[in-house]
Amino acid sequence: MAALHDKFGRAITDLRISITDRCNYKCVYCRTGNEGALYGDLPFTDYLRMARVLVGIGITKVRLTGGEPLLRNGVVQFVRELAKLRTPNQNGDALDIALTTNGHLLADLAQPLKDAGLTRVTVSMDAVDPDRFARITRVPNGYDHVLAGIRAARRAGLWPLKVNCVLMRGFNEDQIIPFGMFAREAGVTVRFIEFMPLEEGRTWAPSTVVTLDEILARMAEYRPLVEIPHARSETARRYRFDDGVGEIGIIAPVSHPFCGHCSRIRITSDGKIRTCLFSVWDHDLHAQMRRGASDEELEEFIRGVVAKKEERHHIGEPDFVPASRTMVHIGG
Ligand code: SAM
Repeated sequence: MAALHDKFGRAITDLRISITDRCNYKCVYCRTGNEGALYGDLPFTDYLRMARVLVGIGITKVRLTGGEPLLRNGVVQFVRELAKLRTPNQNGDALDIALTTNGHLLADLAQPLKDAGLTRVTVSMDAVDPDRFARITRVPNGYDHVLAGIRAARRAGLWPLKVNCVLMRGFNEDQIIPFGMFAREAGVTVRFIEFMPLEEGRTWAPSTVVTLDEILARMAEYRPLVEIPHARSETARRYRFDDGVGEIGIIAPVSHPFCGHCSRIRITSDGKIRTCLFSVWDHDLHAQMRRGASDEELEEFIRGVVAKKEERHHIGEPDFVPASRTMVHIGG
């Protein structure tokens, strides 16, 4: 069975499934503050069939995201079903099943998710200060819930545990050093992400991006960092502090794009395939299922879509066209 490739020869091995576009946080850099989901979601059996077909043609890693994926009842059972899928290589390896969450509901779910077969978790957290955290998320008292979620994930052995922080100028660039301290004390990998133009409020401008170079310079004021080699397909550049305690990652899609190594496709909560975060269209896989397509027909449809994956994004260039959906409705 030929693996999935696009026309630029990139192997597609990494699938992100958004299982809802609802979110219980209203992060200022992501959402305008509206309440509801725009596109809705599908029964888990539909996502499972999509995942099964995709795993059959080369997907080895599935990440659940949203919206906020832990808002969805039945997520634990869904992970249990996903964990039964086997990659079609000789060993029939298990899937790598990851989760991206804001962590608000993680404290009670970490152990059940681990028991169901979740491999690892990434928690989004944009400040290590309760007041700042509330100002960014527009939710009071979220900070303690998230810290409890991180502790529960550690206890459950969801490892490696990563904490992702989107930096946006004027909101939290002063959190760089506090996050360095947090990485060392909590024993988690903290990854800073450059802010991308995917927000609902259209507040992005080049000047709002806190770049990789700036993050490194700021962190060096605290302690020297030493770069660690990273895999080609890895999005983050990785660093350790000079004394070996604490790991930092920087995901720099704006200042140091990595599209040439992209191995990802996404399925939105309403069952559309997106081949790039910045796609200006999506491809209705669920419509194929509704019309009664066989697994073979779904596979053919997916191969046709993946072949047309965009070469790269055009952030900051004169010909940049905003994506047809914002991050919360794509699945980050
Ligand atoms: N609710 C979950 C969470 O908070 O992790 C999953 C969905 S959220 C959209 C996924 C990630 O996208 C979060 O880490 C969030 O900070 C990040 N994100 C949202 N908007 C972004 C933007 N415009 N640029 C970069 N990252 C963004």
